[in-house]
Amino acid sequence: MLIRNFIFWLSTKRGVTNRIARHGMRNGFARRFVAGESLEEALTASQELCSEGRNVSLNHLGENVAGEAAAREVSAGYIRMIEELHAKNLRGNISIKLTQLGLDIDKELCRSMSREIAARAAVLGRTIEMDMEGSAYTDATLDIFESVQRQLGNCGLAVQAYLYRTEKDLLRLASVKPKIRLVKGAYHEPKNIAFQKKSEVDANYRKLTTLLLEGAAQGTFSPAMASHDWNMVTHAQSEAARLKLDKSRYEFQMIYGIRRDLQAQVHAAGDTLQVYVPFGTDWCPYFMRRLSERPANCWFVLRSLFAESGSASRQPAV
Ligand SMILES: Cc1cc2nc3c(=O)[nH]c(=O)nc-3n(C[C@H](O)[C@H](O)[C@H](O)COP(=O)(O)OP(=O)(O)OC[C@H]3O[C@@H](n4cnc5c(N)ncnc54)[C@H](O)[C@@H]3O)c2cc1C
Repeated sequence: MLIRNFIFWLSTKRGVTNRIARHGMRNGFARRFVAGESLEEALTASQELCSEGRNVSLNHLGENVAGEAAAREVSAGYIRMIEELHAKNLRGNISIKLTQLGLDIDKELCRSMSREIAARAAVLGRTIEMDMEGSAYTDATLDIFESVQRQLGNCGLAVQAYLYRTEKDLLRLASVKPKIRLVKGAYHEPKNIAFQKKSEVDANYRKLTTLLLEGAAQGTFSPAMASHDWNMVTHAQSEAARLKLDKSRYEFQMIYGIRRDLQAQVHAAGDTLQVYVPFGTDWCPYFMRRLSERPANCWFVLRSLFAESGSASRQPAV
């Protein structure tokens, strides 16, 4: 847990992330979890995944933006992503982050840009999904999601099993019949609002999986269980079997490069698997969050960084 917290803390330090960013794509270690820096690279990775029978969700990495102009640029980028995905006839959608659309700056602007993106996707017969960020944004994200989904009906939302409030939030969202991506939660939240122990988060994840799958049986939810935890996956599969749910009524989601063995098993079982495909130049904080989830991942990064700095120190200073 200490190492995990330390890496997570490092991921918030620009000095560290900039150093990793200078090396990561060049020497290849970042490619394990990031499809590339450009949309073209992400589309190439997506093409490969789709040819293997997966669906994709493109995610342009980055978080809070500094001003309205930057938010509008991100919004135009999201629309381009969905258009390119469509033009290339790839199965899937895009995932958006509301802080990239200026949620911190102007909530109404963020709502209107989210609506524009969802509307463009709807014209193309596509969906979008909204990521869930830290707890400072939960209320605003739910509010914007609910209004856009009520209007356009093609949106999905991530919800976090580590938050005590999530069950209540799902009951509130049931009326808009949403696609729900159930995740454990990737941020550090205090104990007054979130379960701290893995066993508690897992128990709530199981409970919410059952709630969502029962909702799917009644036509209320389209659940997507987003986890690399074999126990969560098998719980969902056995609950779906108990409810005699058709496989078209739910799906699994996993992240590019993580537990490819489990991804293959889910696909082999005939379940739909959507792979979250992150790309962009601002990949480092995301990359480090993935490292903090599994510190064993750090060794291959450290090995490649030390190998490079060793050779750099033998070169003349410029
Ligand atoms: C498709 C998708 C979308 C997501 N969207 C959001 C979001 O919008 N908001 C949010 O807060 N969180 C999001 N997350 C992240 C999520 O909250 C968790 O932090 C992350 O998925 C790790 O939890 P886990 O369920 O995989 O289980 P864990 O219990 O953390 O891990 C289970 C097992 O999975 C493997 N594993 C997990 N992570 C890694 C890794 N980085 N590298 C290698 N192996 C690993 C290990 O074998 C581990 O034992 C998303 C996750 C997925 C899969």
